[in-house]
Amino acid sequence: MTDRQSPLDHTLHRIRQACHEVGRNPNDVQLLAVSKTWPAESIAALADQGQRHFGENYLQEARQKQQALHQRDLVWHFIGPLQSNKTREIAAHFDWVHSLDRAKIARRLNDQRPADLPPLNVCIQVNVDNEASKGGVPLGAVVELAAQIERLPRLTLRGLMAIPRADNEDGNRRAFRRVAMTQSQLRHTMPAVDTLSMGMSADFPAAIAEGATFIRLGTALFGRRPAPAR
Ligand SMILES: *Cc1c(COP(=O)(O)O)cnc(C)c1O
Repeated sequence: MTDRQSPLDHTLHRIRQACHEVGRNPNDVQLLAVSKTWPAESIAALADQGQRHFGENYLQEARQKQQALHQRDLVWHFIGPLQSNKTREIAAHFDWVHSLDRAKIARRLNDQRPADLPPLNVCIQVNVDNEASKGGVPLGAVVELAAQIERLPRLTLRGLMAIPRADNEDGNRRAFRRVAMTQSQLRHTMPAVDTLSMGMSADFPAAIAEGATFIRLGTALFGRRPAPAR
């Protein structure tokens, strides 16, 4: 990184480079800045440089930042674990949810999406390596959950989100490929499906190579997160 280049510029450069290497158009890959644990000022600094999409994992923390930044035209993505008692506020205050993995939560978000807002964009979270510690549905359960979501008029199913195991890049690339294949299967019958939310700071070039359309980066943009105080 040169002295003059901000972390955002440097990251956008790396994204363009990763696209170039695999012959993809950089306009087809959007950067989702994952701002969990960072204050509203950090978000404002990136927004000043043109970043619009921000991802948050914890509702209360996100709401405080949204309130502090309400004059700005930002797009908010909820990417954390979903609990029933949080769905009403999420449906009211986010543009996207990437971590949908249960029909019951989908129905609540649908019923609670305020009538004056467009349908909520959602991705199904896939537990691509079948890890007990992670949310998401197994790949084999995606089609059935997708069909249930398609019947809910206040949700728009946009695609799939995945967080592969963090231990090796080749394994991740194969995992990303399996997710991409399932997404392309959905696209045959669900024309609004256009999104693959996959790739984080450590593995986004592999995700771009396999077709990611949103890459979710925290550390690359903000630095290492402080250890949680909880
Ligand atoms: C924290 C988080 C990220 C960002 O991770 P980095 O490794 O800091 O880029 C991406 N996606 C989800 C779901 C997260 O919780």
